[in-house]
Amino acid sequence: MVMETTSAAIDKIRCDACPVMCYIKPGAAGACDRYANHEGKLVRVDPHVILERTVSHGGKLVPFSRTEDWDGKIVHEPSTFVTAIGAGTTYPDYKPAPFIVSAEVDGVDMVTVVTEGIFSYCGIKVKIDTDRYLGPETATVRAQGEAVGHVTTSEYGSQMLSLGGVHHLTGGSKKEGRVTCDTLMDLANCKAVELTIDGGASVVVQAGQPPIVNGVKEERMRVGCGSATIGMFAKQWHGKVDEVVVVDDHITGVLSEHQAGKLLDIADTGIKMKGRRSTPGRYFQVADPGTGWGGTNISDPLAILGPFDAKEAKAGLTMLMVSTTGEHSSYYVLDEALKPVETEMPADLKFSVERIQENCEPALCTVLFMAGAGGSLRAGVTDNPVRLTRSVKDALTRVTSGGAPVYVWPGGGITYMVDVTQMPAGAFGYVPTPALVAPIEFTMKLSDYAALGGHMDYVKPLSEVQGGDDVRQLPWQNPIPGPRA
Ligand code: SF4
Repeated sequence: MVMETTSAAIDKIRCDACPVMCYIKPGAAGACDRYANHEGKLVRVDPHVILERTVSHGGKLVPFSRTEDWDGKIVHEPSTFVTAIGAGTTYPDYKPAPFIVSAEVDGVDMVTVVTEGIFSYCGIKVKIDTDRYLGPETATVRAQGEAVGHVTTSEYGSQMLSLGGVHHLTGGSKKEGRVTCDTLMDLANCKAVELTIDGGASVVVQAGQPPIVNGVKEERMRVGCGSATIGMFAKQWHGKVDEVVVVDDHITGVLSEHQAGKLLDIADTGIKMKGRRSTPGRYFQVADPGTGWGGTNISDPLAILGPFDAKEAKAGLTMLMVSTTGEHSSYYVLDEALKPVETEMPADLKFSVERIQENCEPALCTVLFMAGAGGSLRAGVTDNPVRLTRSVKDALTRVTSGGAPVYVWPGGGITYMVDVTQMPAGAFGYVPTPALVAPIEFTMKLSDYAALGGHMDYVKPLSEVQGGDDVRQLPWQNPIPGPRA
């Protein structure tokens, strides 16, 4: 880190860790609160996190150093991993990464290059386990009224949001960029954020926690679509009820028409469904999407039925209507006019509804941080950046983020995704350009590092990092990696 005193700013020092180049007064911090002027010295405010793993901490971290022969346990101990959290940033980018640390692992000289990357090309993918309608695909997602992303393709039992990216960070107004940056950082640091969707719902999102849609905490993720639910539970309904309708915004299932019902010889009931019939017993678009039964907008399930066919239906016919999570359910008996009349549900059908509920997983929000380690960041690792990319693609270099495993996308560049709940708390920061600051570590054999043009003159042993004056170690108390409280 370069420190500079200028005649224009006596006693101030200039931080050169990002393009903002703050002048920082004694005792004060820079614009991002990550660097401060401590008695005339530029210091990184947060501790540099070095993970010391024990067996109780789980076995997902990359072993970095081990002093014992393997005793047969999957998790070696003790092991130490130098993360990039609190390590500092390299700017301008030709300078070597802040820490290039060597250690011997299983008789092989390894090196880990750590840096806090400044990412303007970054974003967050949010998976929200709910069938409730959050908003139309491509609708704008807002935080504090500012556009920060959009609704993207839904997945099985989950609604998906795509947030951030340069379009919102730097392509809109200054306020939009600032709010987007704050939103991404809070979500990445596992804080709760309220988002509103144009033409849709408001949702409170927090990594590892249930979503709160329009003020209601989501309890369960659906067991399957309406058709799948019919297939799974048909046998349990056989002989206990004449007809079952599983209400679902995607595919509503009808037992008597469904293949599962046919194989069980369940008789036709004369039921008439609204919506578009896909295949027997499977109906699309029985209602509009919403936050009611099965992700539809209905609160009265009879609204999706037409009149029963008098040729097949008969008075006394029984019918269960249930949503895909079992959250909603009603039981009906046809009267003499073949109209369904809601009636107390028999105990064995209540049990089947509870079984649907039991088979639903807890609804959670999943937050994946996604970023591209661009040419500049890679230059801090090697003077020939493309070789680092090739080394990652060839699986010679392992990429981690705060010690957590990442998924690196195939194709060009080093574009990765990481589950933020697997990272130590407070791993993310920002700079006011605006951009996110995220830890990234590259671990490889020392010989491979030399071959790809690494900054060999800056390699220092692990012991020096652990004991160095300029590094503050954070003894890690929490079981990392793993979901955070
Ligand atoms: S914003 Fe932070 S990193 Fe950038 S120059 Fe200012 S103090 Fe340094």
